[in-house]
Amino acid sequence: TTPMLAAIAGGKGISIGLLVKASEVFYGLSRVDTIVFDKTGTLTCGKPTVTDIDAVNGNVSELLSIAEAVESKSEHPIGQAITFYAQKEAVPKLQIDNFKAIPGKGVIGNLNGSLIIAGKPSFIEQSNIAIAEHIRKKISALGDEGKTAVLFCRDGNVIGVIALQDTPRPTGSQVIAKIKQRGIRTVMLTGDAKQVAAPIAKQLGIDEVHAELLPGEKATAIEGLQKKGCKIAMVGDGINDAPALAQSDVGIAIGAGTDVAIEAAGVILIGDRLIDVLNAVILGKASYKTMTGNV
Ligand code: ADP
Ligand code: MG
Repeated sequence: TTPMLAAIAGGKGISIGLLVKASEVFYGLSRVDTIVFDKTGTLTCGKPTVTDIDAVNGNVSELLSIAEAVESKSEHPIGQAITFYAQKEAVPKLQIDNFKAIPGKGVIGNLNGSLIIAGKPSFIEQSNIAIAEHIRKKISALGDEGKTAVLFCRDGNVIGVIALQDTPRPTGSQVIAKIKQRGIRTVMLTGDAKQVAAPIAKQLGIDEVHAELLPGEKATAIEGLQKKGCKIAMVGDGINDAPALAQSDVGIAIGAGTDVAIEAAGVILIGDRLIDVLNAVILGKASYKTMTGNV
């Protein structure tokens, strides 16, 4: 099928806001009654900043070097933020081999024969690494401040914690309010901790939140809503969103997102504007009526 371009009138005249991959997508859009959003990079700016660095042995420079080495190979916003911070601090460069990203969990790699594992606390525990009580307390305190804690481990020991904070998109609450005005339900799905996700959802006015989900579980959550009869448009940007985008009635990818998300979606927000999610649904409902002559 031929990709179709949809021009959406922006504030200053016409600008291309979204790309609809195939005409069937309009039918899907016309039926949407629930919009499901990923958090990081979709409802938030996706440009988290490093706020806290805690090295267990006190050597912050070494922790940042290791973090830069492994996270510079990640395309996740968290990886990019940590890399940006470490490079600004001009820490010594190290070389990671056998890098692997585990979507929704973290990253792993080898550094001079040592195994480096970085990611969320539950991923570290699953890797059979003990998290000391004082580190747990630190993670919980960071969560209370709305910060995401990433643990760095070397050869089975936690060597440090790096915390990040992301900000909701400035247009977020306005867009969510407009969506809800049309009687469409809003849901947030995230791999991040509930402590971090719930306040952001509340601030934006999102109806329902599901946190700590792995990529497959995001898809299962959508399937659960579909079984209740919901017609779902899912908006996401990451590799971790691809299964959910494929499962939903219409997948909508953030244009600045990863290739995997863009491939899995039927609509691409090339203008990177959250309001175009609603514009896509409005356009779908209008176009479908026009195409079927059912005005
Ligand atoms: P979201 O659903 O909010 O987009 P993800 O599913 O991508 O979040 O990630 C879930 C969690 O996995 C993150 O909050 C983070 O703790 C961890 N994580 C993912 N990628 C990385 C990475 N490159 N480095 C460290 N931690 C990561
Ligand atoms: Mg995301």
